Amino acid sequence: MKCVVVGGGVIGASVAWHLARQGIGEVVLLERDRLGSGTTWHSAGNITWKPTPTYDAPILYAFETLARLKESGHETGWLTTGRMFLTRTVETRGTLEQFDRVAQERGIAARWLEPSEARALHPLLDPTTVEGIWLNPLSGRLNPADLTSAYASAARRAGARISESVDVVGVAVDAGRVTGVETSDGFVAADVVVAAAGLWSRGLLAPLGVALAQWPCEHFYVIAEVSPRLPRETPSFVAPDDLIYGREEVGKFLFGCFDENAKTLDPASLPKPFSFTLLPPDWDKTAPYFEQVMRIFPAVEKAPIRHFVNGPESFTPDGLPLIGRVPNIDGLLVATAMNSAGVTWSAMTGSLIADIVAGLESKFDASRYDPLRFGDRGGDLAWLQAEVSGIVSQGYRNQNR
Ligand SMILES: Cc1cc2nc3c(=O)[nH]c(=O)nc-3n(C[C@H](O)[C@H](O)[C@H](O)COP(=O)(O)OP(=O)(O)OC[C@H]3O[C@@H](n4cnc5c(N)ncnc54)[C@H](O)[C@@H]3O)c2cc1C
Repeated sequence: MKCVVVGGGVIGASVAWHLARQGIGEVVLLERDRLGSGTTWHSAGNITWKPTPTYDAPILYAFETLARLKESGHETGWLTTGRMFLTRTVETRGTLEQFDRVAQERGIAARWLEPSEARALHPLLDPTTVEGIWLNPLSGRLNPADLTSAYASAARRAGARISESVDVVGVAVDAGRVTGVETSDGFVAADVVVAAAGLWSRGLLAPLGVALAQWPCEHFYVIAEVSPRLPRETPSFVAPDDLIYGREEVGKFLFGCFDENAKTLDPASLPKPFSFTLLPPDWDKTAPYFEQVMRIFPAVEKAPIRHFVNGPESFTPDGLPLIGRVPNIDGLLVATAMNSAGVTWSAMTGSLIADIVAGLESKFDASRYDPLRFGDRGGDLAWLQAEVSGIVSQGYRNQNR
């Protein structure tokens, strides 16, 4: 069996590795530019454990995967820092108390922090500005480019071939089954094609009559030169009620938001090539969220912003990715639309795709990610854009999913 993976972001690289490890045939990954050059390179790289259906098993598998990659000599920059969840509402407090109960049952050293302890852990935090602080120790961050390289190099070691600067211009289908891909280097025959082309996946499959319910939104964070500089191991934070998050970045303070009425953007409007490229900053859109950051971390008010990172990221109407087989076209699978959790879900996605291709039962519930679960509505652009614009904040506020 020959499998072609289209796209060399963190998802395509993980899929290629998991397929190659499965040993079911030849695996070829085709990336039109350089590995990680789409959305992956500017990801914040956070992975946060939560005992919810969407995060629990995928994240425990992500941790297992990071350990496996490290054991075999692949560096990802993973650093366990723990994450402080800052609450302001009764609902969020209730959700975190539920998380805490699960953590205690499993012997995970999560705990509610006294203000003095929180302040000692995060020198910029004013604990009097929040109602409660729950520390979740099973969280941290990594370097997304290193993770992508780690997957790719592990994939090569397992026998996969990875070709950069090869543009896939179309997926070839004959009599209801995939026969290969047309590329800038000619035709590549394949029995299985996995579309892992990030926000370009929808456009890639549209000529086949497949309307993937994914659409990109502008998604951003900034990096501020704070004083005092933050220690490397400072716990990251999330304030779900204020839709903000942040972490240390080389002594500086990285913070971002999951904004309401997120700005959608048409993939066709992006410059070509869109490689290691960012979108222009939108200070007005970010201002209300950064005010919340300043309220909780007052030193930020005087901290110069050194970087504004605004990149496109695909979202779906229910905040879950599109992973699995495309019915009616044998051999066609998708692994896309990561809802700003592609680094987090990359290991799960690779494992699920490899199990589906090998005909094995997966430890993950494939039905949650059915790529065509929205039916014909995937083709209704007005509906899709309105849904994804809202899910960015709704998905973040509801920590319990
Ligand atoms: C500001 C920001 C912060 C984020 N922070 C986090 C975080 O903290 N934690 C987390 O888990 N996630 C985070 N994310 C989300 C994460 O970065 C993405 O979900 C992930 O990088 C998506 O990976 P991908 O492989 O699907 O897409 P991409 O990285 O875009 O990769 C797709 C690849 O496909 C290639 N391609 C496209 N079309 C073709 C074609 N026709 N032929 C060949 N190749 C093709 C592209 O060149 C590209 O390299 C963040 C995203 C943003 C924007």
